Amino acid sequence: MLPLTIAQALSRASEQLARTSDTASLDAEVCLQHILNKNRTYLYTWPDKALSEHEQNSFEEMISKRAQGHPVAHLVGEREFWSLPLLVNATTLIPRPDTEVLVETALNLALPGNAKVLDLGTGTGAIALALASEKPDWQITAIDKVSDAVKLAQTNQQRLELNNVTIKQSDWFSAVKAQAFDLIVSNPPYIDEQDEHLAQGDVRFEPLSALTAPDEGFADLFHIADIAKNYLKPNGYLLMEHGYQQGLLLRQQLEQLGYLQVKTIKDFGNNERCTLARVSDSIR
Ligand code: GLN
Repeated sequence: MLPLTIAQALSRASEQLARTSDTASLDAEVCLQHILNKNRTYLYTWPDKALSEHEQNSFEEMISKRAQGHPVAHLVGEREFWSLPLLVNATTLIPRPDTEVLVETALNLALPGNAKVLDLGTGTGAIALALASEKPDWQITAIDKVSDAVKLAQTNQQRLELNNVTIKQSDWFSAVKAQAFDLIVSNPPYIDEQDEHLAQGDVRFEPLSALTAPDEGFADLFHIADIAKNYLKPNGYLLMEHGYQQGLLLRQQLEQLGYLQVKTIKDFGNNERCTLARVSDSIR
């Protein structure tokens, strides 16, 4: 086998992925960076460096899995969120850049310095850990129903050494004490079970339990909205991510439940992405 150079390996892989991925050359770079344990600059500084046989074989194996549709995050086992490197596996949703809008919104709220925060359905721990990294004095509780997700989030927490987060197993509020939170955040499953996108792209490899909900995707959003008011302090905030077409109905539901100051925030693509609401004393 003739050794390939970095540049040759990348261009061959990009060609191989062109039909199945919209991000073929980026995918190839991320995979090769992982195998060589080098950054992107290295790939472009040393294009003529030959790969070892082992590196070449590992790379080809990864690229053929990507060609079969496996998400890059699963192949390299990691995804960055809020500049934090998070371990990722098939037990949870892969963190999305759009969810950073929710983090940014939460960080901009006027909360007490030692705010108590709850993250429902934490998955990799992305939201809770991002908040913890910015607000060391917040006391954050993160829960997930899936025990493998809890383990993954705990591993991420240990790697990042963020000690102000408690991660535990709970089916939404079932194992959460009725302690009062200043803020409850969630990126729950909200995709309609019939959505045709579920048969396309990376989502095929993510657990449905993290993606879909009954009632056209509203079941968990509404459930959380209904129960959260019993767990919030007076004037506490609820902040949930949702689908870009779910804003109007969710705002109506929150208002009907008695929440105040209901407001939807758009993501970087200008789509409605998360909705903030405030609980008043009188609705509890
Ligand atoms: N935004 C994700 C997607 O479109 C879904 C995330 C979720 O269900 N919470 O694939």
